[in-house]
Amino acid sequence: MMKTRWPEAYKVIETLENAGFEAYVVGGAVRDFTRNMHANDVDVTTNATPNEVKQLFPHTIDVGIEHGTVLVVLKETIEVTTFRSEATYSDFRRPDAVTFVRSLQEDLQRRDFTMNAMALTKTDELIDYFGGREDIEKKLIRAVGDPSKRFAEDALRMLRAVRFSAQLNYSLHADTMEAIQSLHHLIAHVSMERVKVELEKIWKSDFVGNGMNLFVSSQLAGNFQGDWETYRYSWERFSSFGNTANGWAFFALMQPSKNVGTLLSFYKCSNSEKTHVKHVLAAVEQLEKGHWSPYNFFQFTEDVLIAAASYAKQLKKIDTSYTPKQIQQAKATIPISSVKEIVVNGNDLMEWADKKRGPWIREVIETITIEIVNGKLTNDRICIKEWFFREYVNGDFLP
Ligand code: ATP
Ligand code: MG
Repeated sequence: MMKTRWPEAYKVIETLENAGFEAYVVGGAVRDFTRNMHANDVDVTTNATPNEVKQLFPHTIDVGIEHGTVLVVLKETIEVTTFRSEATYSDFRRPDAVTFVRSLQEDLQRRDFTMNAMALTKTDELIDYFGGREDIEKKLIRAVGDPSKRFAEDALRMLRAVRFSAQLNYSLHADTMEAIQSLHHLIAHVSMERVKVELEKIWKSDFVGNGMNLFVSSQLAGNFQGDWETYRYSWERFSSFGNTANGWAFFALMQPSKNVGTLLSFYKCSNSEKTHVKHVLAAVEQLEKGHWSPYNFFQFTEDVLIAAASYAKQLKKIDTSYTPKQIQQAKATIPISSVKEIVVNGNDLMEWADKKRGPWIREVIETITIEIVNGKLTNDRICIKEWFFREYVNGDFLP
């Protein structure tokens, strides 16, 4: 009987089984199945080699043949990975070599946590060699095998443990926590790109307070720049508003120093993330001085304003009354939403002033923008022309 839960994954398993191989659902999907949650992202593991997998399906994509992974493209794309074990690790991150193995148990043994080291057969039989189901019932994240050994093999696992605690609201098993607290410094071997991904997953998760608190109490945070400690409990009520760059903005607001650019470079934030953070910080600074002006509502995007209002309240204890709805309404009253909407351009100004191109044009456009935003000038050619002659040409103080 074909299962309706993951029809495409079951088709892959059936095809592999019909060809004489073993195949199972593994990883996060089995964990979520055991928690009675539905996972959309299903991984399959098999004793067929990548080449054997490729011969069985007309459409496959090689994504990491040397690691044993092939994508099988059906209505959905299913990741199929050959049973493997990971040989020695000498860089605290990646195995020096992977070895394909013929037993499922060996494959499950290399996985990080008991809850992630279970397999499910086509008929829903749970294969659980390490007590994953019991740990899930106890809401525990526990390394498979000796935690110190496992974290020394791959230091990223320490941060994955913290991230899962934020996603699932689970605690770390005492031995797992202890191992992290003594090996936390190994996290320095993990690339910043991977660290950033995990932090951002924490910020998007339901129990961000758990994750960020554990990030500090596990001592992992101390290996990175910036102050994670002082406001560690403030993450409890943090909302990313759907944009992970807001996590960086929240973090930046916690810093005593103003040199946020260097800090964000350390975490390999992109230029657009840096700009977003800079804007949120500037908007919060305005709130520290008082209310937002019409120009602030023009200058900052809705996303920036919503984040700034919320974080100013939480971190700076500024009693802002701006709700997202009020922010939207305030923005809607601004006559223009971008400089591009201004109905005159540099060529008009040059013609009216009979003056050559130069930096003066930008200055005048800026002044026009401010006047329009403040409701002192109508965005209309005749009005702007009259204003221009009055303020600049006749006034004879053209910059
Ligand atoms: P998510 O919901 O975040 O996708 P997941 O459990 O599927 O959770 P993945 O990163 O997609 O996590 O990894 C799939 C599986 O591969 C994990 O469940 C785990 O069994 C194994 N795994 C992933 N990363 C590691 C690692 N660094 N060390 C050991 N096993 C790992
Ligand atoms: Mg996954």
